[in-house]
Amino acid sequence: MEGARIARLELRRKDLRFPFPEGLEARAAGRRIVALGRRAKYLLIDLDDGTTIISHLGMSGSFRIETGPVTDAPGEFHHARSKDEKHDHAIFHLEGPAGPSRVIYNDPRRFGFMDMAERTALEVNPFLFGLGPEPTGNELSAAYLARRFAGKAQPLKSALLDQKNIAGLGNIYVCEALWRSHLKPTRAAASLVTKTGRPTQQMELLVSSIRDVIADAIKAGGSSLRDHIQTDGSLGYFQHSFSVYDRESLPCRTPGCGGTVARIVQAGRSTFYCPVCQK
Ligand SMILES: [Zn+2]
Repeated sequence: MEGARIARLELRRKDLRFPFPEGLEARAAGRRIVALGRRAKYLLIDLDDGTTIISHLGMSGSFRIETGPVTDAPGEFHHARSKDEKHDHAIFHLEGPAGPSRVIYNDPRRFGFMDMAERTALEVNPFLFGLGPEPTGNELSAAYLARRFAGKAQPLKSALLDQKNIAGLGNIYVCEALWRSHLKPTRAAASLVTKTGRPTQQMELLVSSIRDVIADAIKAGGSSLRDHIQTDGSLGYFQHSFSVYDRESLPCRTPGCGGTVARIVQAGRSTFYCPVCQK
């Protein structure tokens, strides 16, 4: 998309999770895309008039790219993405150096959304305002998390999912990071902070686990799991690429542990953990 001109932005409905911003089609038409970026879970499409289209995939959203007869679907997802054209809601008709192409946003459940903001005002955009540091950046440290978690009786897992504490960590990676650092998801966030407000050793381990989980996922090309075609031709998933997520009733992968992965629900989300080695 970078460097291409938006010949037309085609919106096939008025809303996704929220209404599309007023006049989005007209404002995007004819603009050149100068850069693509990301903050937390928001995709940022910078246009040459100083505006940015903010896009969130929600639960089931994905983009695919059609260049002539060739279709490409970047990203790898644990849950298979829809390719059903009836869920194509927004289409960027692009003109690039290599010719025309279409970048199509598909979202069966429509929890995703798009917004538009002046680039200089992104920090105060309601979606982006107050977000915590990125998990891969220098700002995230055990000392920083100790300041955030001090005095918090909130479960550790919920505190890690709170985008004001760390931006961009989702359910899967929080489960994986807690398993790697042998921490129980239900323990209090404050239990990783000393009485004098300093991070415990476990907090240090948690922060390096978070960084490692994200680094490994990026190396694996996205969400660690990719769709693959089963021998019977149906679409399936690799079930064993995560260490703990989605592995209920399977043996814990911590060497010598012998425990069995359990699933509980916290704040409406599934938590997978090992009751034996996560304390
Ligand atoms: Zn275990």
